[in-house]
Amino acid sequence: MGGLLSHLYIYCNDSLGINLNDALDYMKGLLPDTDIELRKDFFKCYITQEMLDPLAERLASIKVLNPIKEGLNPDPIYAEVDYERRKLLNPSSGSVGVMYDGFRLQALLYPLIRKEEKGSGHLHIVITNQLIVTWDSYDMRYHLRVGVFGQPSIISTSGMVEAPAKPREFYILRQMAATRYLNMADIKDRLGQRFIDYGNSRMTEVAKGYLAQAIFYHITGDPFCEDRGCRLFNAHWQEEMVYAQIESPYEFCERHRSMIADWRGHRYRGIKDLKSGIRNRKTGER
Ligand SMILES: [Zn+2]
Repeated sequence: MGGLLSHLYIYCNDSLGINLNDALDYMKGLLPDTDIELRKDFFKCYITQEMLDPLAERLASIKVLNPIKEGLNPDPIYAEVDYERRKLLNPSSGSVGVMYDGFRLQALLYPLIRKEEKGSGHLHIVITNQLIVTWDSYDMRYHLRVGVFGQPSIISTSGMVEAPAKPREFYILRQMAATRYLNMADIKDRLGQRFIDYGNSRMTEVAKGYLAQAIFYHITGDPFCEDRGCRLFNAHWQEEMVYAQIESPYEFCERHRSMIADWRGHRYRGIKDLKSGIRNRKTGER
């Protein structure tokens, strides 16, 4: 598949709770003919001292202040710009719930990428702990996203926690917690397997699926699948995400397995042949 995706660059700093070696090994298994490079924080790779102030200002200007009103933050105040400046200098600092317009963020990152790494065979994927949103003109509000795909693709670890809705019981219990002797830790204990929370080790497994979605978007233009057991399923609920990325007995549906096999240069010769190439989730065998 050299022509389709010859170079993949994944940007992620090691404070985001993703097991990077695991994720990298996984991507190498998926794309054995692609040159895959793991890099540190995206901004650390590209910005110079002179770029710091203008970039901080532009980042502050693409914040979404009100999720039900389309519009950004064209005239950020000093404190907002200063927050971005400090975040640029110290990328491992936590996310404080600031939301950015995902497509505007993408447009801001793209020009920073080196020209020689911008061809169609190159894909850059930025993993961040910032919240990203996109405007939905159908229901007239911004929605949190786990991934915004394109060049570069952006995957949000906070989005994994906040974007897909938690089980309905979570919201009912949380409401009860406000009035009764029930604390959030107990609720999380009760429902914990059914959603992904901050610091959860299962985040790495979820990240693999969104990395795969970014790759499918790059190669085919379509990152999603209707099959709820396929890693490309577009989950709107935490339980759907956990099933597609962790609990499903297979990683990809038959159609997507055959596409992956094609990329690898092996013509599809049937499920048996493909299964030998993709890691069996239960046993870890290939
Ligand atoms: Zn599929």
